[in-house]
Amino acid sequence: MSDFRSDTVTQPSQAMRQLMSTAPVGDDVYGDDPTVNRLQSYAAERMGKQAALFCSSGTQANLLAIMAHCQRGDEYICGQNAHNYKYEGGGAAVLGSVQPQPIENEADGSLNLNKVKAAIKSDDFHFAKSRLLSLENTIGGKVLPMDYLATLRPFVEQNNLALHLDGARIFNAIVKSGEDERKLVDPFDSFTICLSKGLGAPIGSLLLGSEEFIARATRIRKMLGGGMRQAGIIAAAGQYVLENNVQRLADDHANALYLAEQLATIEELSCEPNLVQTNIVYATCLKQQSSALAAALAEQGILMTAGAPMRFVTHLNVNKQDIDTLIAAIKQFYAGQ
Ligand SMILES: *Cc1c(COP(=O)(O)O)cnc(C)c1O
Repeated sequence: MSDFRSDTVTQPSQAMRQLMSTAPVGDDVYGDDPTVNRLQSYAAERMGKQAALFCSSGTQANLLAIMAHCQRGDEYICGQNAHNYKYEGGGAAVLGSVQPQPIENEADGSLNLNKVKAAIKSDDFHFAKSRLLSLENTIGGKVLPMDYLATLRPFVEQNNLALHLDGARIFNAIVKSGEDERKLVDPFDSFTICLSKGLGAPIGSLLLGSEEFIARATRIRKMLGGGMRQAGIIAAAGQYVLENNVQRLADDHANALYLAEQLATIEELSCEPNLVQTNIVYATCLKQQSSALAAALAEQGILMTAGAPMRFVTHLNVNKQDIDTLIAAIKQFYAGQ
């Protein structure tokens, strides 16, 4: 069985389970869980922010960030393809009464700051109040350019916006860029990290920012039912992956490129390996809908996300041999057509 649907499907390793089972724990709602506290201070220190908060999911971490930056009746500006606009059930609007103002993403995943500027509303009671700019890195597997990141801080300061990063896969961006970790998050007032994607933890995300911001987020997390008790059991896995699984993301990137190059050799598919930067590969079926291919692969225990385009994601539980098996199965499918 090999699963290319997402990097969320990774299985906890034996070493990780061992650490989880022996982690010292306490009641984290009282602030008493030593393993959660260690993870939060480790992450904050490492990434150069004042504080961090352990959250149940990336969706929760983004929601806390938007609600901690914005008041009811404010708005956040984000990409049309932003996870926190498109794939989080409209939580910011539903639960925070914060209106999204989406803007078309550029081809490289960034938001054109002239278009952002044009969307910022003047102080007029007809309008929601523009409060926050939210970006995503990586987005669709792409790394936001470093020179773009350098333009953000002056822009938000000039326009009186807070700046948030959905960094679910920020370590993929960091490893790919080869830059100092902090350089990719320095411009942002707040950012998230998903521990449960390519890093390989079973559960959990982090939200990072100033002490004061994290205090507000902690209050909202409790209100949303996200106050967890002996959460050190899962925080131990988060600590493990931050200490052990960051550099190995480069293997996932190499595997994704290899996968894309192999897909590109199949004439019934269209795939552009030069667009692959990290661990996500898109390909399009040229002849029919991808659902027939997905069904044929699933019969052989190979899973991927059908669609136009289809999506294949590499992670620590798929290797080059799994990719070769996948490619052979796709070729076999078309040979039998
Ligand atoms: C997966 C993901 C999230 C949400 O994380 P969950 O833990 O699945 O809630 C947020 N942003 C991006 C970019 C993601 O890929």
